Amino acid sequence: MRFDILTIFPEFFAGPFDYGIVRRAREASLTEIHVHDLRRYTHDRHHTVDDRPFGGGEGMVMKPEPFFEAVEDLFGEPASEARCAPQTSIVLLSPSGPLFRQQTAARWAGLERLVLLCGRYEGIDERVAKHLVNEEISIGDFVLSGGELAAALVVDAVTRLLPGALGNAASALRESFAVSAGEPGVFPPAGGILDCPQFTRPRELRCWQVPEVLVEGNHEEIRRWRRRQALAKTLRNRPDLLECACLEEEDRSILAELRAGKSRTP
Ligand code: SAH
Repeated sequence: MRFDILTIFPEFFAGPFDYGIVRRAREASLTEIHVHDLRRYTHDRHHTVDDRPFGGGEGMVMKPEPFFEAVEDLFGEPASEARCAPQTSIVLLSPSGPLFRQQTAARWAGLERLVLLCGRYEGIDERVAKHLVNEEISIGDFVLSGGELAAALVVDAVTRLLPGALGNAASALRESFAVSAGEPGVFPPAGGILDCPQFTRPRELRCWQVPEVLVEGNHEEIRRWRRRQALAKTLRNRPDLLECACLEEEDRSILAELRAGKSRTP
């Protein structure tokens, strides 16, 4: 899979892709990450990428032309054609987009090419959103000072879903938010809820013990305990996820118990 990142701060990306799974995916040629300096697509002496907003107001707005020219240069065709390239999405990082979710990462992991446009200042001339990109995406309900951190986050979340990127492919099926079908009988589907708590050695840390069930070796008990913990954590921290989760009958009765328990607590 190929990522192209358009930014006025290309040096920002010296680092985030040099560790762990993303580094290994690059070394194994599962991904190529190309970072492009938007200032190369300016034509004045000062390489101007921003200008004052029409209509007045605070701050500066990023000019649209460098984005259009950069995309046209990358694809070797007019923006209108580039926008229809198969197996490709041109994405604008923006706090006004729909939220980036695990499902978004999974959908993009099925593409061959993802182009990520990073804004700065007060944002980007709206014609980029309207006529150049395929989608806008926000990484959360907060405002960053630039799209670079958001782009790095997207590359990371998508890369680890590429076939072969994770040491153990099954782990992606069970982690938080995973909605894939799982392998019946081996790894039950996570169903879109949070992951269960994990423990490793030492068995006792200060006075805190690892839950007994995890060291007793009864796999069915462990599975039930983990499911209950995952549901309890989701109910506590992200009850919104339960509205769309794929729940089994067993999950529903665990949740009913948990809710009843909660309502009894003073
Ligand atoms: N004035 C804008 C904020 C611009 S922030 C507003 O109020 O909506 C500058 C740039 O940072 C944006 O163009 C975008 O590329 C990036 N950015 C900021 N917050 C983001 C978020 N939550 N998700 C993705 N990109 C974000």
